[in-house]
Amino acid sequence: METSSSNTGDAVHIEPVTDPVVLTEGPHWVEEDQVLLFVEPFKGNAHRLFTQTGRHQVLHVEDVGSGPNLTVIVPVDGAPDLFVVTLGRSFAVVEWKHSDPDYHVVTPVVLQTVDEHNKSTFFNDGKCDPSGRLWSGTMDKDLLPEVPTAAKEYKAALFCLTPDLNVKTWVTQVALSNGLCWSSEKLKVFYYIDSYAYSVDAFDYDGEAGEIKNRRVVLNYKAAGLTKDLPDGMTIDTEGRLWVANFRGSKVVCIDPKLGRIVRQVDFPCQNITSVCWGGPNYDVLYVTSAYFTLSNEEHQSQPSAGAVFAVTGLGAKGKPPMNFKADLTLLREKIALHKQ
Ligand code: CA
Repeated sequence: METSSSNTGDAVHIEPVTDPVVLTEGPHWVEEDQVLLFVEPFKGNAHRLFTQTGRHQVLHVEDVGSGPNLTVIVPVDGAPDLFVVTLGRSFAVVEWKHSDPDYHVVTPVVLQTVDEHNKSTFFNDGKCDPSGRLWSGTMDKDLLPEVPTAAKEYKAALFCLTPDLNVKTWVTQVALSNGLCWSSEKLKVFYYIDSYAYSVDAFDYDGEAGEIKNRRVVLNYKAAGLTKDLPDGMTIDTEGRLWVANFRGSKVVCIDPKLGRIVRQVDFPCQNITSVCWGGPNYDVLYVTSAYFTLSNEEHQSQPSAGAVFAVTGLGAKGKPPMNFKADLTLLREKIALHKQ
């Protein structure tokens, strides 16, 4: 497939590794099996792609009453068949064995549900911090499909699910919670995207306490000349640079947060790029998800790969192994056992 990378002479190669669907999101690498996990939010489907054999499993996670959107799936540390998910307004856990059929349906066990008083919201992007807490933010379906104005009250928020399965709210007045990642422990920075703020922001991050504070802007998209692009999912490389998926922007941008500017971009053959994660044996493959919803018929015809997951190689950059959810396993298994009774 065509390759392109502005600002560099690298031999960057972009290859779709799945068939396109309406929306792929939430990529997460699993080192043990060389597996790429990702989700198909609108359908409530999680995908498990074994990259070395090509085996491709789909897990349909049933709606348990707070909405059907599945936006995050992350393995539970120390429990190979358990995964924490965000589904509707709930954090939940599912069991997914390797031996399950390639299409499998599961009823999740709800751990916590947020915003019972505010049912227009639902979870969107999420990720585990370096201590294994799961941070995930919501979006507000009352905002869609319009672009919100400053006058609108934003009802979404950023939450954190802790190992003892409690939830704390960390950021409110969020429009569309999206990308999140952490610098190495030493630098202690949490990076965060509220897409409709058109901004990549940073917070001080206290890994021990699991606290964030002192929000500031790293890069404002409008000020950087990105008038059309919506910042979406995000990851970080070993040099501390941020790689951000640009919805409507046909690209992933690499931001040096110390300089507060874009230092590189990778162009894609479809406009709605949704998220990114590092994977592969050396963590030097950038897996990139995408979407065809919002495209007109004409646009869709000219972007046949829209909605595929892509593998990008030759970037000359790499990431670190991702964090899994470090639950209190006794507590988690008690919750599952209670559900089965
Ligand atoms: Ca997203």
